[in-house]
Amino acid sequence: MKTDVLIIGSGCSGLYCALHLPETMQAAVITKSDLESSDSFLAQGGICMLRDEADYQSYFEDTLRAGHYENDRKSVEIMIRASRQVIEDLVSCGVRFQRGEDGSFAFTREGAHSRNRILYYKDITGKEITQKLLDMARKRPNIRLLEHTQLLDIACRDNVCQGAVLRMADGSSVLARADFTVLATGGIGGLYAHSTNYRHLTGDAIAVALKHRIALKNADYVQIHPTAFYESGTQRRSFLISESVRGEGARLYDKNGMRFVDELLPRDQLTQAILAQMRKDGTLFVWEDLRTIPKEELDAHFPNIVAYCASMGYDVTRECIPVVPAQHYYMGGIQTDYSSRTSMAGLYAVGETACNGVHGRNRLASNSLLESLVFAKRAAEDIASGGNLPQPGIVPLAELDAGCDYEAALQEYRAAAVQKICGKEHGACSA
Ligand SMILES: Cc1cc2nc3c(=O)[nH]c(=O)nc-3n(C[C@H](O)[C@H](O)[C@H](O)COP(=O)(O)OP(=O)(O)OC[C@H]3O[C@@H](n4cnc5c(N)ncnc54)[C@H](O)[C@@H]3O)c2cc1C
Repeated sequence: MKTDVLIIGSGCSGLYCALHLPETMQAAVITKSDLESSDSFLAQGGICMLRDEADYQSYFEDTLRAGHYENDRKSVEIMIRASRQVIEDLVSCGVRFQRGEDGSFAFTREGAHSRNRILYYKDITGKEITQKLLDMARKRPNIRLLEHTQLLDIACRDNVCQGAVLRMADGSSVLARADFTVLATGGIGGLYAHSTNYRHLTGDAIAVALKHRIALKNADYVQIHPTAFYESGTQRRSFLISESVRGEGARLYDKNGMRFVDELLPRDQLTQAILAQMRKDGTLFVWEDLRTIPKEELDAHFPNIVAYCASMGYDVTRECIPVVPAQHYYMGGIQTDYSSRTSMAGLYAVGETACNGVHGRNRLASNSLLESLVFAKRAAEDIASGGNLPQPGIVPLAELDAGCDYEAALQEYRAAAVQKICGKEHGACSA
């Protein structure tokens, strides 16, 4: 198999990167699962946008404060400055955002934002965006989409990436040669016992990067979301109760039905407060009260959450729901520059798998879809202009190493990645 650009991952970052490549370049986008099963489809709260020039300092400061001032300031600036353009682009792709009666955008708010600056579509913003990107990618003659096709390793020599070793849908292993390879494999939630992420997101690109000594950054910066629906005795993906519910007035209560915290604290601080309260109360969850939100608002803004709670036996207009913190987002990842280049020639990383420092120690709510799109587009532009390929004359790779069990090797790299991220030797991390 040979392509100009091989993109590993079909979430919003992989798709947006593919869509910004010139149509003269052949791209293959692969996914370990089916095309609709990526975290990008799950994003509920929304996507940030710089509202106007007067909002710049405040948005910048909110992002830095949430990130404990460990953010890369230039990355933050690039992301915020590009936000209006990205939203215009999405709207031109047919993406719908909630609007007021006069047709202007409606904005909501989440924790640690000092102003309403989040665009949303009901509580399925991620699906609205990613489905439209997928529909566009399906129509592009230069983009090939391959489901149930898994990255097992990258193919590299002398710190130059020349493609990847893939397990195809029929179970065969192939060497896919590519001038440029883009890692867009999303988060690491599948390594955790409790996570809001899809279970198949197991940080494979991080594991492969570790093995090939590709630079990582902030490898242990993992975000725990304060409020996932509590369900006992299940290994299923935890259902997220979006922060924008709290932004619209939902309250958190201890076992006695008393408020114990400011619900709009940054995620890491709120998580700490909830865990401390659970320890104090000897409980496995705290209560979240959505009755503070008018029913019309609940139905219009959060239909998916209302329906999920109903399916679990809770009528949110009449009773509180049990919530617990769960692993949610990976701020660390494969170190990238402002064009999403990694430390290996010919290799890029975008989306949650990459770390350009934009989020610092803790991500501000609704910054990740935006960051994924902004830096995926920059990767595509860099690739289109020649990218970080070394001088001609590199030795081409041989065929697949028949003696290598790539599947088993990936398991081994994963164990090393767990150790690096969680500081544990074996087993899954636990949130
Ligand atoms: C429940 C939930 C709610 C969220 N809400 C918001 C929100 O409101 N706003 C916001 O900004 N962010 C939100 N986020 C975060 C945001 O959705 C993600 O950070 C973002 O979508 C990541 O996009 P991505 O393209 O990097 O990865 P993903 O969308 O996760 O896609 C990863 C892709 O990589 C593929 N893959 C993984 N490993 C391999 C492999 N070995 N071989 C081949 N393919 C592989 C997967 O199959 C998938 O196609 C939320 C996340 C979750 C889980």
